[in-house]
Amino acid sequence: MARDGDLVERLLAGERRALARLISQIENDGPDAVPSLVALYPHTGQAHIVGLTGAPGTGKSTLVNELAKAYRATGVRVGIIAVDPTSPFSGGALLGDRIRMRDLSGDPGVFIRSMASRGNLGGLARATADVVKVLDAAGYQTVLVETVGAGQSEVEIARTAHTTLVVEAPGLGDDVQAIKAGVLEIADILVVNKADREGAEHTRRALQMMLDLGMDQNVRHHDREMRVESTGNALPDKQPWHPIIYSTVAVRGQGVPELLQAISAHRRYLQTSGGWAVRERARATAEVDHLLRDQLVSHMLRRIGPASLERAVERVVTRQVDAHAAVTGLLADAGLE
Ligand code: GDP
Repeated sequence: MARDGDLVERLLAGERRALARLISQIENDGPDAVPSLVALYPHTGQAHIVGLTGAPGTGKSTLVNELAKAYRATGVRVGIIAVDPTSPFSGGALLGDRIRMRDLSGDPGVFIRSMASRGNLGGLARATADVVKVLDAAGYQTVLVETVGAGQSEVEIARTAHTTLVVEAPGLGDDVQAIKAGVLEIADILVVNKADREGAEHTRRALQMMLDLGMDQNVRHHDREMRVESTGNALPDKQPWHPIIYSTVAVRGQGVPELLQAISAHRRYLQTSGGWAVRERARATAEVDHLLRDQLVSHMLRRIGPASLERAVERVVTRQVDAHAAVTGLLADAGLE
């Protein structure tokens, strides 16, 4: 079996098998991937990370496929990560992938991977961020991260992106799904897909209204000197980015070139406004914070030891002490006060 050092070299040399193997190691959540990630890190920082999120059925997969084709037409290498926090399956063999493969298979400039939940959203978000780094180091200039599901999971994963697209479609039983899920505030670009369908104009108007309302609120926030942290639209620069709405018919590739232009425009905006650096710093902060907390907790639990923990629980159960006092006692006994 190849050593991990070789794996990194092979990956940097463009070997797809090495790439797939490292991604599997990350997914398996073992310690094997860490040395490779350490070695790869200096080779990252080039890719434009684009997140797409929205309710199931809005056409995200179709849109990602079309965007990938449009990027390939301009020679850009594209990595695609389809993240499904609601599915327990994993390993790049989901139905969506097979459909995608038909169009994009055989193109060495495209790499597609599905990632699914291991029952822990934080773990999935971190694994996704690591896979993004691996694709970045492997020379994929744009990485499209597609998230299935609604609500908090989308927001968590979207935070790893430079540019976030929220995809809507008419006729899904709810006027505007993003409003319900509360994901509108993370959108840099809004897409009304299925513009060929009845109600598309209505969806567009509803989104525009929500955007206008959101802008008013931002202004009011600023009046009170509040700053919304870690949302895409609260970057501390002089010319804020105002989310734009695009209409697409993904099944026909309609509106996709314009959408690609908008994504590129957002990247240029981030680079010239300083927003790119702000997002990089926010991501690094979150990553260091998460890892540090994990390590601290494991370290302290080891120091306390399972036997003491068990005894403390027993004392709480038998009502000799309450949980607060038990924890204070545990920390004191382990010298961790
Ligand atoms: P996802 O669940 O958001 O990834 O959505 P999919 O990409 O799987 O698309 C869901 C369904 O909508 C599929 O049957 C697509 O063929 C269809 N679809 C996608 N885009 C469009 C579109 O622009 N117009 C219409 N009419 N159907 C679309």
